[in-house]
Amino acid sequence: MKLYSVGVIPGDGIGPEVMEEGLKALKALEKIHGGVSFDIHSYNWNCDYYKKNGRMMPENGLDILAEHDVILLGAIGAPGVPDHISVWELILPIRRRFQQYVNMRPAKLLRGMVSPLRYKEHADLDFVIVRENTEGEYSDMGGRLHRGTPYEIAVQNNVFTRFGTERIIRYAFSLAEESGKSRIIGATKSNGINHSMPFWDEIFKEIGQRYPHMETNLYHIDALAAYFISKPETFDVVVASNLFGDILTDLGAAIVGGLGLAPSGNINPEKEYPSMFEPIHGSAPDIAGKGIANPIAQIWSISMMMDHLGHRDLGHLLLETIEDVLEEGSVRTPDIGGRATTSQLGDAIINKMIGKA
Ligand code: ATP
Ligand code: MG
Repeated sequence: MKLYSVGVIPGDGIGPEVMEEGLKALKALEKIHGGVSFDIHSYNWNCDYYKKNGRMMPENGLDILAEHDVILLGAIGAPGVPDHISVWELILPIRRRFQQYVNMRPAKLLRGMVSPLRYKEHADLDFVIVRENTEGEYSDMGGRLHRGTPYEIAVQNNVFTRFGTERIIRYAFSLAEESGKSRIIGATKSNGINHSMPFWDEIFKEIGQRYPHMETNLYHIDALAAYFISKPETFDVVVASNLFGDILTDLGAAIVGGLGLAPSGNINPEKEYPSMFEPIHGSAPDIAGKGIANPIAQIWSISMMMDHLGHRDLGHLLLETIEDVLEEGSVRTPDIGGRATTSQLGDAIINKMIGKA
């Protein structure tokens, strides 16, 4: 029996609603496999916690999380608490402390779904965006001068280290190799950003030389954004800096059916520290409390978590069942054209999976 300790942060808004379905899926996986078991520890570290305590998590919050094998996050953020607090005090410290330097976001058009791109409605869209998750444009270096005057200046430095840039690009190439894919795109902007981006390109080329059988391309971010619309079916792996990756992943989610379906993993590939899996979407205050959030992004994140833990069979089963239910089409939440509730869709997936196994 393999026992995994899972730290769970349901978060705010629709976070706890979709997490409930995710935890049901974990229970179902235990039942199906028999050889895996999950020890769940839930933490109420969210914006309510912040309003009461003036911080997003206790002082030893990261030490507590360090004890788990993996972390599951719902969504964080609430009206009244600035995003930079919820992000900078909870999500970023977790990503940094646990060296989750890979943010992996699959963009895959699931069976049963239609892409909103005309002419690509049924294209084989199936690629992965690998976003650098610890440095780059999201650095805390910079400041403001001459506040409130006509001469005011804001400076934000980008930080690209050789260590950080090499490890993310290396990861992207090895991911492609492992999954039998051959096309790697690097997102750049070396014509306009003339220090950090040429550095990124050099490292991309250095590492690319070790994979002569792969087709490599560096595209400027503006052109690449256009290719996401005009030829996404030709992509396998896209590797990008923190900011470029952030933008591309929302775009990637949009072309395969929307945020309700988009999962992500914040991964420490060396498994030295826990990795964290979460839907891409936020807490969606506009639909929170209505019981209509789509739980698929959360459940798919758990499929990614199973892959990460080495149970690819279970990860595959979960994703395949999500596709079965989408293809059948009778149980869907409003964001994907149905009238089902969060728990009806969650149950449909879980019951079908138990039935299949
Ligand atoms: P954040 O700053 O936390 O990312 P946001 O408002 O930018 O918040 P989301 O909370 O992700 O972004 O919501 C964007 C839109 O997508 C909202 O209209 C929301 O209702 C919708 N949405 C997000 N997630 C889901 C979901 N799981 N199911 C259905 N609709 C969703
Ligand atoms: Mg958002």
